[in-house]
Amino acid sequence: MSILLKGGIVVSAEGRRKVDVRIDGEIISEIGTNLAIDNSEVEDVSGCYLLPGFIDAHTHLELNNGKGSIGTADNFTTGSRAAVAKGTTAVIDMATPSKGTSLKQCLTDWNRLAEGNSFCDYTYHMSIIEWNKAISSEIKEMIDEGITSFKMYMAYDNLRTTDAEIFEAMTEIKKYNGMLGIHCENGDMVNEMIAKFVREGKLTPHYHPLTRPDSVEAEAVERYLMIADLAGLPVNIVHLSTARSLAAVRRARARGQKLFVETCPQYLVLDDHLYDGPDFEGAKYVCSPPLRSKKDQEVLWEGVMDGSIDTISTDHCSFNFEGQKTLGKDDFSKIPNGMPGVETRPELIYTYGVTTGKITLERMVELLSEGIAKQFHLFPQKGIIQKGSHADIVIWNPDTKGVISAKTQIQTVDYTPFDGMETKGSAQAVYLRGKKVAENGQCIAEMEGKFIHRKIVKESINPC
Ligand SMILES: [Zn+2]
Repeated sequence: MSILLKGGIVVSAEGRRKVDVRIDGEIISEIGTNLAIDNSEVEDVSGCYLLPGFIDAHTHLELNNGKGSIGTADNFTTGSRAAVAKGTTAVIDMATPSKGTSLKQCLTDWNRLAEGNSFCDYTYHMSIIEWNKAISSEIKEMIDEGITSFKMYMAYDNLRTTDAEIFEAMTEIKKYNGMLGIHCENGDMVNEMIAKFVREGKLTPHYHPLTRPDSVEAEAVERYLMIADLAGLPVNIVHLSTARSLAAVRRARARGQKLFVETCPQYLVLDDHLYDGPDFEGAKYVCSPPLRSKKDQEVLWEGVMDGSIDTISTDHCSFNFEGQKTLGKDDFSKIPNGMPGVETRPELIYTYGVTTGKITLERMVELLSEGIAKQFHLFPQKGIIQKGSHADIVIWNPDTKGVISAKTQIQTVDYTPFDGMETKGSAQAVYLRGKKVAENGQCIAEMEGKFIHRKIVKESINPC
């Protein structure tokens, strides 16, 4: 039997329309005003917005931190449950191999983590942590397997590659019009700064952001964009966090370069005074890049508003405070990097972006869903409510009020960096491929998330 969502307002990046939406099986079959009920089961959604299911293009749902012993607090099951409960119906997780592992093996490993264990749909960015002939020849293979985007690192000794290797990878990815995202921080400088503070006995979380000041990010962003310019590849900058980096982006665009920029909710609503909290609380906010100044926050919002920033994803990477973050009690450099966030992104951006008048709901749809779908080859299957697309639909109630709390969150981690923050608006119900998977902030479905096989359609890439 089909489902008829009646009386809501459908929102896309382009605008909003008061129309009914009919779902048949996994697909949206009809959109129009006053659709006949026929044999459909009717759901009255008047007073609500119908938004395309949100896509989080930057998660580490299940990860070993590379130091051998620390795994994330969440896994595919708990992370994806938290995602769908609040409106995120697809994630692009970071598949990260260990040294010496082929990309194909990494893909098998990630499929093993996700298959049958996910409440939301998923795919991966394949991380390239070393560069050689074998890895190079696997780029095409990955794209044929539906993995059309890649990730590289300019920091972290166990993950980073050289500039020349990044250039070679870009050249290879460009052959197929694939997408590359990079973690931009100058790894040498980060190492140097950490060593300096440790040597000086400056070991509290206060020093974490000081090891990665804005120049460390901005230099890497600038260098990465120059390399991408040489390679002629439109690239993605993940988790951009500073005003200086955004200035580098604007310079690149002014000279005609095509590129994409992602930021994360934590850089928009939290700032670096949190590192000075009592009782080692600062450790909760240890992530890289770190939280920034209020001034940076303002400039990032301007970027979100004027279109310089294309997407907002979370960099969700959850470690418990007790037992994991506390490993760095005597030395900030031993605190595992990362924060949970896959659950809270929609409500935070709605509350602090839309209800404050900074952005429209249309722009929120673009930042959290439509723009991501277009950039990462998921469009028009996902990212939009239109005939023929997956029925991934968030019934958004603008009138609810809430408070984010570690006690009530769905994520399986012992804190949230947004604890105590008040929110407005929330997902009243969530549909994933035509099936209601969440209601009133709770996941009500089985683990039916599927791997999304992506295909590169050249026309879908339209960077500003
Ligand atoms: Zn990340």
